[in-house]
Amino acid sequence: MLRLRHPISLLLICALVLLGVLRSYSTPAPLDAGAPDVVFSADRAEAILRELLPEKQPHVAGSPYNSVIRNRVVAQLEASGYAPEIQSRFHCNPLYGTCSPVDNIVAVKPGAVGKHAVLLTAHFDSGWAGPGAADDGAAVAAILEIARMAADFPPFDNDVIFLFSDSEENGLIGADAFAEHHPLFGRVKAVINLEARGVSGPSGMFETGDGNRSIVRMLSKNVERPVANSLVYELYKRMPNDTDYTVYKRKGVMGVNFAFAQGVALYHSALDDADHLDPGSLQHHGDNAWGMLKALGERDLGTIYHAEDAGYIDLFGTRLSHYPVSIAGGLALVLGVWVMLAIALAFRKEFRYRQLRWGVLAIPFLLAAIVLGGYVLSWPLGRWPDLHPLEHPMPWVGRLTLFLMLLLVIYTTLKVFTGKVSACAWMILAWALVFVLGMILASKLPTTTHIALLPMAMFALGSLIDLFRKKSPAPVLMASVFGFAGAAFVSFHHFFMLDVVMNFDKSHFKVIPLGLAALVAMPMLLAYVKDRDLDWQPARWLAVAVLVGCLVHLFLPGYTAERPRGMTLMYSEVEGESSGHLVLESLVGRPDRDFAESHDFTDTELNDGRLGSVRRPAREVTALDLPGVTVTAGDTVPAEGGWRRSLRLDLPPDTRFVQLTFPADSGLQKAWVNDILALDTSLERKQVRKLPILRLVYPPQGPLVVDLLTTNDGAFTAAAVSWHELPAVLTVPFMGNWPDEARPVIYGPRAEKIQPFEVPAVTSP
Ligand SMILES: [Zn+2]
Repeated sequence: MLRLRHPISLLLICALVLLGVLRSYSTPAPLDAGAPDVVFSADRAEAILRELLPEKQPHVAGSPYNSVIRNRVVAQLEASGYAPEIQSRFHCNPLYGTCSPVDNIVAVKPGAVGKHAVLLTAHFDSGWAGPGAADDGAAVAAILEIARMAADFPPFDNDVIFLFSDSEENGLIGADAFAEHHPLFGRVKAVINLEARGVSGPSGMFETGDGNRSIVRMLSKNVERPVANSLVYELYKRMPNDTDYTVYKRKGVMGVNFAFAQGVALYHSALDDADHLDPGSLQHHGDNAWGMLKALGERDLGTIYHAEDAGYIDLFGTRLSHYPVSIAGGLALVLGVWVMLAIALAFRKEFRYRQLRWGVLAIPFLLAAIVLGGYVLSWPLGRWPDLHPLEHPMPWVGRLTLFLMLLLVIYTTLKVFTGKVSACAWMILAWALVFVLGMILASKLPTTTHIALLPMAMFALGSLIDLFRKKSPAPVLMASVFGFAGAAFVSFHHFFMLDVVMNFDKSHFKVIPLGLAALVAMPMLLAYVKDRDLDWQPARWLAVAVLVGCLVHLFLPGYTAERPRGMTLMYSEVEGESSGHLVLESLVGRPDRDFAESHDFTDTELNDGRLGSVRRPAREVTALDLPGVTVTAGDTVPAEGGWRRSLRLDLPPDTRFVQLTFPADSGLQKAWVNDILALDTSLERKQVRKLPILRLVYPPQGPLVVDLLTTNDGAFTAAAVSWHELPAVLTVPFMGNWPDEARPVIYGPRAEKIQPFEVPAVTSP
């Protein structure tokens, strides 16, 4: 049978696999500045980063400070012997309806053949609230260091274009300007894009172009520590996030997109500075980009477009296990049949059909209990405490509590079903379930078939060893142990992967991957307890341990000075109203309730500037009467598909930001700013467009002409929002007590003026 010496051996396998998986989620050691010049050194890149961003201030595209950063990037390139070019223009990305000035910095290392080019790129602009050292300064510094290394390198076959794009944060505007207007773009056949959605963690490869089989193989071979999982790519496709690579991918260019995503509480925050950046993430970024650049530099880029995608997952950050999707179904079928045959041969004597009856009940019991346990724990671990929606500063107590809950469920299942379900029945049903899962994944989402393929392949491998051991009465012991190791690998890999997209308030989702390891561990455990009397005492102890875990977790801070809550003080007024509001804004999570209460911020219904309202803690203050936008309706002419209505916008001097929101019933199809196509609602994008919105960041001085193509001819009310400096006199009384664990994120402090305005009906000539 399946007699293990002791179930402790399963825990030992778990611990070993866990350690290996944690390597996938950690970063390489940063190399010091004395490292040889042919390897990337995070220390050298960090020195560049600190020279680029010493002031720790936001530098939004178009702002005066961003041109300072631009000049520093240019100086670095010149010092390495390049003659960088600046692609400068006012540009709009019609996919997002956003416009800003862009200053893309372009440097080229000519290739020996030079027919095609590899684009190595990162954006140098920051968001509104922070200096953007991780997003995307680390990538900029890494590419500057690589450009310096590459300058001394003999030429590759292909050209290498280093692009430091501008205005990514405002809607990939620089990347779009490069793709639409730069003559070099036509030669680009492969893109390496570096990004960040946090300040630490491994630089994982999370996106490629379509037909990625060749480039995935290149990644596995040419990067020392590849971290990637095609399930992440599938998730990313369904998330609203985009990066510069979106622009190139939409144009059919192959590429690899790397980002680190831990420490997400600091993402787009005031603390995203060089001191908070994990140097290991910088090292990993550099290693990945340098490895891929050398490989793509020498590759015939005509051959990297493959007909099909690959499924892939990294094995402890050493190399990728990958397979073409076309064989995923066949592989699942062959392995599944092998596994089922091995089990059938092993149990052909002792199997009875009636043994299956209880198994059909027991397996759903186990899986449902795991999810239910996660659901119950999601209250004390994630909903009662006030937590960031994506990240816990001290997650291990919560994780341990979930593991203990899993053990409790496993023990309870054993206690309830021992004597009723035989190990053999459970084994048949469990592996049949894995087999079916593999077949379903292969047909519905083939790039994720490895979730079932890996455990089955490990089982098959173990069964070969069993065949040669021939040591009855344990015909599939090695197969079971190997299969369990494979399942534990898949379980842990995905358990930690979900950390990037959810916190403990969604523990019922977090624990789902762990169900696989529990499912295939059970036959061995059932065999072990077969002739033993189980009592409830261990279950009681496990329950107590889970409770203690919850209690300890409740006392851990949800936010710390290093992993702060996003909270910003902003002022908002609506034109024509005598009072405005000082608002505590928290766009990720919620503001500090204690701070809000003790400073008399009360929940208030506010105009959101987008023709709707929003509830935020706010205090009424006398209106500042900020200067606003003057909108004058101009000519209307019939156009294909409707009417082209012209608006003239007069902005106050040095306007940082203007946003125009149009109602759905305006039938707005397209918009132009100074004759540049700025919004095209027919373009499909990942994020659902609720209303047509036009955003102008640091728009040019002087009147702007905004043309609208609308299908409707009626009058409608639109809204304009403009941003101004937040007067210190308003905020000083609150800044003294500002909590240490609260920092501005995303937009940062500002004073905004909201102005509804009428667009008159079309008058027939
Ligand atoms: Zn970014």
